[in-house]
Order: sequence, then structure tokens, then C-alpha cells
Amino acid sequence: MRFAPARFAPATPVRVNLASDTQTRPTPGMRAAMAAAEVGDEQAGSDPTVWALCDRVAARLGKEAAMFLPSGTMANQVALATHCRPGDQVLAHEDAHILTSEAGAQSAITGVLVHGLPGPRGQFDVAALESAITSPSRYSPPQRLVEVEQTANRGGGACWPADLLCAVAACARAHGLTTHMDGARLLNAEVALGAPAAVQAAGYDSVWLDFTKGLGAPMGAVLCGSADFIDRAWLWKQRLGGAMRQGGIAAAACLYALDHHVARLAEDHANARALAAGMAEVPGLLVEPPETNLVFFDTARTGMSAAAFAARLAAVGVLVSVVEGTRARACLHLDVSTAQVEEALAAMRTAAG
Ligand SMILES: *Cc1c(COP(=O)(O)O)cnc(C)c1O
Repeated sequence: MRFAPARFAPATPVRVNLASDTQTRPTPGMRAAMAAAEVGDEQAGSDPTVWALCDRVAARLGKEAAMFLPSGTMANQVALATHCRPGDQVLAHEDAHILTSEAGAQSAITGVLVHGLPGPRGQFDVAALESAITSPSRYSPPQRLVEVEQTANRGGGACWPADLLCAVAACARAHGLTTHMDGARLLNAEVALGAPAAVQAAGYDSVWLDFTKGLGAPMGAVLCGSADFIDRAWLWKQRLGGAMRQGGIAAAACLYALDHHVARLAEDHANARALAAGMAEVPGLLVEPPETNLVFFDTARTGMSAAAFAARLAAVGVLVSVVEGTRARACLHLDVSTAQVEEALAAMRTAAG
């Protein structure tokens, strides 16, 4: 097993990149905003563009304060570390990013246990949460935090309904637990549900947005919460090496994304629906109906693994990502046009046949 990614040099030029919404390239307008950014030393508190981004995201998510971080993974781990003490237990969905995709940071660095809750589409209900709550004893790990993911990535990009988010947060609070929302794609949910992100996040003590997914920025996540929480979170930001210098160059891209790339997420969702509808007509592909920009599908009935199917597509310049076994994901974002969706569908028909 090697940890470093292979140097990606496709034999065929990439024509449609459905591999991930992280692979968007900064637009010319975004690059111009970055080049023009006023900067300082973020770590020393003197970068005005970073402060402008923090103020704007905190207001947009209805929280008192915010901090800029290099990545969403760091936002999750800073939040867990700030809310919890080593040995504490976090309750989250069993497919949660913190459990499946952060290289075990919750135990390697943060020192918490994550207890996975079951439920369809990456969501759990109040009954599942209630049944996982233990009565305090010196034998069991202290339960400290409930975490939700909006949208649920491995849940198929599904949106937690706003009232379920509210009910889960209320249940957590009634049991004395704090709450954290992994809002990597919260703005996709805002656009899809028509429910403001601040309303969805209202019951949560902390919440963050990832700017490198559908928003199209090259780096950065913004973590929000109470002023006291963000103050304490700075210790972990510093400790993990997440305190930056001329961070304004990156923050300017994020501000640009808030101005130009939020409403257009609806186009990605429409393209996802069009892709899924077309894929449903391809013999052998089983498609999960998308709610946002992620289209998960199963290749079992083509007789191919997801990897074999993805390799056939890659050979003609169409990239999708392999989840595991026969499960794969196609991801819509600002570098995929409606015409490219048609091109991808044509390639899938050939690859499946
Ligand atoms: C991408 C993602 C993250 C991590 O964000 P990075 O910026 O890649 O570190 C966390 N949670 C979810 C749900 C994600 O999709």
C-alpha cells in the first residue's frame, strides 16, 4: 500500500470530469479576485480579507464568529477537539466523513471515539439517536457530541430535511450533548431545499462550509460557532498547523465564490437529474435518484466492477469515481456543462454495452 497519490497523467485527454466537485479550476474572475486581494498575516490577525470572509460566513450561517482553515477535514477535527476531551464519544452516522474518510484523525489526533448510527441516505432519526444514548457511568465513554453531515456525501448527496436537523439537535441538547454540522455541501442543501443555511444550522453549536467543493475555490473552509467556541478553536488551529499567513489570497477566492457560485448550484442539481435520468435508460446501470449534485450508481448488472466500468469511461476521457465494489459516483460541478452531460451519457451507453 502506498499513501501518495499516483501522478495522474491520463492517456486520453479528460473531456468530462465527473470524478469530484473538488476538481473545479478557479475561473478567470476568481483568479483576478485572488490577485487583487488585500492581505496581511492571518496568523497574527492582520489579514483583512480573511476577516471579511469570516464575518460574512458567520453572518450567513447565523453564528457569532468564524475562522478560516485550509481544509474541511481540519474544520471537522478542530471542531471535535474543541468540543470534546480525549476519551469522549461522538455520535454520527456510520457513513460519516469523520469516520470513513479522515484517515482516523479522530483517534490518531483528536482522541475521541465515534459511534456510528444506522439509517438510510446517510441520515439517522431521533429514535436511532435516543437508542444510542447511554446512561452515564464510569465504565462508558462520556458522550459529548452529535454530528450530522449536510448533505450526506456517502448517503448519495441526500439532504437532511430541516425539521429532522432541528429535531436531532433538540434531542441532543435535551441529553446535554453539543452538536456539530459538517456542512461541506450545506449550500447545495440550501439551494436544493430552499431552506436558508442559517435555519438548517440553527440548532448546531458549530458548522462549517467547504469552499473547494461545488463553490469552486482552490482551498479553504470556514468554521463557525459562538465567539467563545471560535476563541478556543484557535488553539487547535494553531496546534494543527492551520494558522496561515497571506490567507487573504485564498479567502478572496472564497468571497468570490459566495458572490458568483451559490445560486448556480441549481444548474449542477439540474445536470445531476438529467444525468441520472439518462443513466436510468442505460442497460445494467442502477442509479440512485439524486437530490443535489452527486449521482451514485451501481454497475453490478453490467457484469463489471465499478473500477472496470470507470476504466472504460476513462479510456474515452470521462472520469467518474469508484466508491467500492460495484458502487460509483458521478459528480456535477461548475466545470461540467449540460452538453458535457450528454457526452458522458453517450460514453456510458457504450461502456455498459
Ligand atoms: C470533502 C468533505 C470533507 C473534507 O473536506 P476537505 O476540504 O476535502 O478536507 C468533509 N466532509 C464531507 C462531507 C466532505 O464531502
